[in-house]
Amino acid sequence: MSEQARVLPMVVPEEGLPERVTIYEVGPRDGLQNEAAVVPVAVKAELVRRLVAAGLPVVETTSFVHPRWVPQLADAAELLEELGRLSVPAPVLVPNARGLDRALEAGVEHVAVFASATQTFAEKNLAAGLDSQMAMFEPVVSRALEAGLDVRAYVSMCFGDPWEGAVPVDQVVSVGRRLLDLGASQLSLGDTIGVGTAGQVGSIVESFAAAGVGTERLALHFHDTYGQALANVHAGLRHGITTFDASAGGLGGCPYAESATGNLATEDLVWFLTGLGIQHGVDLDAVVATSVWMSEQLGKPMASAVARALAP
Ligand code: MG
Repeated sequence: MSEQARVLPMVVPEEGLPERVTIYEVGPRDGLQNEAAVVPVAVKAELVRRLVAAGLPVVETTSFVHPRWVPQLADAAELLEELGRLSVPAPVLVPNARGLDRALEAGVEHVAVFASATQTFAEKNLAAGLDSQMAMFEPVVSRALEAGLDVRAYVSMCFGDPWEGAVPVDQVVSVGRRLLDLGASQLSLGDTIGVGTAGQVGSIVESFAAAGVGTERLALHFHDTYGQALANVHAGLRHGITTFDASAGGLGGCPYAESATGNLATEDLVWFLTGLGIQHGVDLDAVVATSVWMSEQLGKPMASAVARALAP
């Protein structure tokens, strides 16, 4: 019996899309914080190292959130010490001033803050309002900038909110604009519950452009809950977006929907971009091998279709 040929994506470039894309890996932070299992620090360190070795140009490693809220990431300081200095930017999430203190103590150079585009989620997740969250971030961001750090700002619930339903695009732009005005270098617009649709992506990107925010300041963060993540990436590419968040193996369930799938899987994004002839610098096989290994550690199947198809 002859061996089957290795399956690779068919590469057919599409005119008008960016030549190169940055894949911003969030698996160790956003992924693991939403997994039920608490993973040993040595496994987390190996996950980060494998992702860096696979060519991911930025790997968000952990969060200095209070362990009471996210026990999965209670070992943030230990993990950073274990990792030492990496060859790529390794941002950490800092939810508040105390989180920033801990990040500075750990010698971190890139941080991220996590805001909400809706009042209800700001209340539930941040114990703040749509306006008062800014008062919370202002001293964190300004102190981070004074210390020479780069600050990314996540905006969650940009495409829909489980309590409020539709989210007015002007509200999303207003929250994003204020975070950039505080000094954030990039906004990551999150479809936290995965309800976003392709036309909506273009509408949001264009609304930011109308408010003077170019595509170079925007990243898109999709969840595959309804199977729309790659369609939404395609819409983002057509509107000139060049940074997309993804999580190896699709790590991270969706905390607000009873679904197995959360974050867009890195290998699904890699396959998709490769097929379009877009450069990304990431080794597909290395990411798949990492996801297979990680799913063994977690004792659960991979959410990524590409990893399932390619896994040995
Ligand atoms: Mg996410």
